[in-house]
Amino acid sequence: MKKLAAGNWKMNGTAASLSEVAALLQAHPAPACEMLLCPPATLVAAMVATAKGTPLQVGGQDCHVKTSGAHTGDISAAMLKDAGAAYVIVGHSERRTDHGETDALVQAKAIAAQGAGLIPVVCIGETEAERDAGATLDVIGTQLHASVPDGSTAATLVVAYEPVWAIGTGRTPTLDQIAEVHAFLRARLTARLGAEAAGVRLLYGGSVKPSNATEIFAIPHVDGALVGGASLKAADFGAIVSAL
Ligand code: PEP
Repeated sequence: MKKLAAGNWKMNGTAASLSEVAALLQAHPAPACEMLLCPPATLVAAMVATAKGTPLQVGGQDCHVKTSGAHTGDISAAMLKDAGAAYVIVGHSERRTDHGETDALVQAKAIAAQGAGLIPVVCIGETEAERDAGATLDVIGTQLHASVPDGSTAATLVVAYEPVWAIGTGRTPTLDQIAEVHAFLRARLTARLGAEAAGVRLLYGGSVKPSNATEIFAIPHVDGALVGGASLKAADFGAIVSAL
């Protein structure tokens, strides 16, 4: 399995930011892991052009469940595919919170992504209150079950475990807490998808940075990272890529 370093630029970046991509590619022309950046939709096509002929893959941050139609402001998986994207993040906690996205909607988006030939990066994670209440595995198990499409395979699914309280906060779970969740996710996916589950990349996300990447990547069943803030700068994201 090739590990995956995925960056989520969120609502950041203009054309000038593509210089960071050029710098990243210059420093890491042949990384050992797969490298993915998910810029805002306005930059997908331009980043695809910058990445042409390099190992960098480009992804969207969200997609609509429909292919086309009267949905002002939305973008379909087919449109992202047409722009050159290979992946799309679905169910990020900021989408779940800001836009009220439910597990059922996230699953529908993941199905739409797979149907368009994109690989969905399905995000799940508990809130701090849920962790404090001892409900982490219950919450994660429910989200996983209801957000992942039936029939997913190693080639058509990536799952990102992102504790909501660790995103953009500089706080991370202990290594044991990450290990517990990732082992649980692998077991649940194996029960659901059979042998295919062994090859599904399980990413950890939440305040990953160069200083903690190596210890997080050494945890069993951590097959890469989904990186927010530290993906904006070539030097930081490059250091994380090198740690995988
Ligand atoms: C994210 O947005 O998915 C994320 C993990 O953000 P950060 O790395 O900034 O915590």
